[in-house]
Amino acid sequence: MNPCAHLVEAPTEAPTQETEGCEGCLAEGRDDWVHLRMCLSCGYVGCCDSSPRRHATTHFMETGHPVMRSFEPGETWRWCYLDERLG
Ligand SMILES: [Zn+2]
Ligand SMILES: [Zn+2]
Ligand SMILES: [Zn+2]
Repeated sequence: MNPCAHLVEAPTEAPTQETEGCEGCLAEGRDDWVHLRMCLSCGYVGCCDSSPRRHATTHFMETGHPVMRSFEPGETWRWCYLDERLG
């Protein structure tokens, strides 16, 4: 399957960001996220859909930024929310 236009246009690396975890969880005083995702439009770091608060998805809903990448060590896959596609 070919990547969608959003994945073709998105960078493979986000703006360098220093973070200790999910920005949404940290703001709420939580630290129980499962995995982290990074927005390739603005560098926001949020937790995945396996986490209780799903901040990465919330970020997409609020901003419309379509492409996130994994923020886990050794993982480089990207995900387009609009097309629900990996690339
Ligand atoms: Zn797309
Ligand atoms: Zn979170
Ligand atoms: Zn963003």
